[in-house]
Amino acid sequence: MNRFFLVGMVLLPVAVRAQATPGYSSQSAVVERATEADAIGRPSPADASAHSRFLSSQPHMAGTPAQARTRDYVINQMKSWGLETEVRSYSVWMPHPLSTRVWRIAPDPIELDLKEGPVAEDTTSSAFPQVMAFNGYGAAGDVSGEVVYVNYGLIEDYAQLDSMGVSVKGKIAIARYGRSYRGIKAREAEKHGAAGLLIYSDPADDGYMRGDVYPKGPMRPSQGIQRGSVMNPNGDPSTPGYPSTANARRIPVGQMEIPRIPVLPISYGNAAELLRGLSGKSIPQPWQGGLSFRYHVGPGPVQARLAVATDASTNPYKTIWDTFGIIRGSEFPNEIVMIGGHRDAWGPGAADNVSGTISVLEAAHAIADQAKAGKRPKRTIIFATWDAEEWGLLGSTEFVEEDSLRLSKSAVAYLNQDDVAQGPNFNSGGSPSLRALLRDVAREVPDPSHEGSVYEVWRKRANLAADSLEPQMGDPGGGSDFAGFYNHLGIPILDWGFGGPGGVYHSAYDSYHWMSKFGDPNFEFHATNGRIAAAALLRIANAEILPYDYVEYARTMKRFASQAEQSISDKHWKVSAGELSKSIDKLETAAMAFAAARDRALGARLSPQSAQQVNATLLGVERQLTRPQGLVTRPWFRNLIYAADENNGYSTMVLPSIGEAIRAGDEGMVGREIADLVGRFDAATRALQMATGLLQKS
Ligand SMILES: [Zn+2]
Repeated sequence: MNRFFLVGMVLLPVAVRAQATPGYSSQSAVVERATEADAIGRPSPADASAHSRFLSSQPHMAGTPAQARTRDYVINQMKSWGLETEVRSYSVWMPHPLSTRVWRIAPDPIELDLKEGPVAEDTTSSAFPQVMAFNGYGAAGDVSGEVVYVNYGLIEDYAQLDSMGVSVKGKIAIARYGRSYRGIKAREAEKHGAAGLLIYSDPADDGYMRGDVYPKGPMRPSQGIQRGSVMNPNGDPSTPGYPSTANARRIPVGQMEIPRIPVLPISYGNAAELLRGLSGKSIPQPWQGGLSFRYHVGPGPVQARLAVATDASTNPYKTIWDTFGIIRGSEFPNEIVMIGGHRDAWGPGAADNVSGTISVLEAAHAIADQAKAGKRPKRTIIFATWDAEEWGLLGSTEFVEEDSLRLSKSAVAYLNQDDVAQGPNFNSGGSPSLRALLRDVAREVPDPSHEGSVYEVWRKRANLAADSLEPQMGDPGGGSDFAGFYNHLGIPILDWGFGGPGGVYHSAYDSYHWMSKFGDPNFEFHATNGRIAAAALLRIANAEILPYDYVEYARTMKRFASQAEQSISDKHWKVSAGELSKSIDKLETAAMAFAAARDRALGARLSPQSAQQVNATLLGVERQLTRPQGLVTRPWFRNLIYAADENNGYSTMVLPSIGEAIRAGDEGMVGREIADLVGRFDAATRALQMATGLLQKS
């Protein structure tokens, strides 16, 4: 799934770096840098390629025997490196398709072939049965009607159709992928009364308009299909907000937040068969896609039928497996640093997400070898692989819900790896408190281009306007396994990877062959992710005082507060975000005082007992910015700094409690939400001041 949505250019001044390695005394920093350099040297492209060959050798959708095979592979690898391991299974409501069919019933009736045809040179495209063309959590049903083209199926697209006098009521809507999460497309089609929804990849967005298509190039061919979930909430829909453990109460299907209409993904080859014959109103120019005819919205005269049969009434519950490899910390075993990537896929999944799984494996291997040689990290490190991410972050969500107390109390950071090696372009994101750390680790790791460090190549490509600026990093919204950690519990996160041109997302062609021909032919980007992962984990796990950067955090928040102020003044309301800015100013002052006290205390040799007290207090800082009752629109989303936009699914809303109140046009609620957030920022400031006080006493 999508990781981060980069909103415009985010330009940050280079943070004031008093201590070269925040959280370390100068002596321990020397040892740490050597430990990291050793770990960075360990991951190997050859190992990464071997893992990829095995893990992408079969389609491995969640709930299938092929997923038991990837579980065993990961566990056996980790055991062989001497890691303690654990498998957690959950029984989740996850109907699989039994048959999916689409017809054009008028004019000239034909049944569309939904298979992604075999590619001779790509053996996985024919060696195993493909995962059927379907959208996870779409409803079963057999519906037909006139076809209506709804562009991207966004809220504004339906408003446009309304203004044209065109309705999808009782009709088959056809939307193109892009600009929003597909679950939002399903929700809007259903809301507007469509009988069924087809979602296709338009060649203008994802196909030949972007480059040569597979197997000649990396882009999506005419028979390529983007599968994917159309459920909007995170986690098992039968246990909303609580874990799917053995005796968990299950809500009835009628209460689950899932689509009630059939939804199917189709290729642009098939979409052309439906779109070509549409007549009706002339489209707004931006609605024209890349197929070789003029698009119309209909309705009709083309009519379509779609039929979806699932095992929802016979066998809807499936077992999923999360895997864990564990290295117990030598000094602070109760403080946990985690890394995870999802292990399930819609096809062979070489990019999404065998690549992320390999990053987790390579980091685990490197740090396990160090531990075997007697160099154990100070904090406990957990290497996770998640199941059923593709259906709606099920594996990570159920785990986080099951272990929320332990994680809230002891998780220092969660690092996520999803779809991380399909080209040369480094991108990253995460909590502003950890961004400086990732930038610094990226300085230590050589870029596969041999043109400097990952950081240097990243900077060069970012083409920054001034030396004082840093390359942009994304804000955590939603769409991958960090959501449970970040959005639900407020645990700081990081995420990174290498992107490039590609059009095999959620397709049968996301294969070892595609990867070794286009994405990462030498598997060097795979290995580089593992190097970054190992170094970042160690940097966090070995710090004497946790290396959060609350100065960058507060400065980022200041920007968001002034954006909120601007949106409010655009409304000509009486409420103001002035108090919010003031409370963030206090946080910034406290953050600077903390950074100085941390450096001083580390210079003067801090006892492990005081360090432990300071660290426990620090864990409370960002947690203050979560609210137990969550957002008004979605109680599961407790973090009030970032959330996925509920009308888009992929893009990020900053300060969402205030943002949603502004969008609702409710001035009173905006005022209440500002006051609520001010109280929480003040609590974060107090936690930080308490940590500073402890450092000064020590
Ligand atoms: Zn993914």
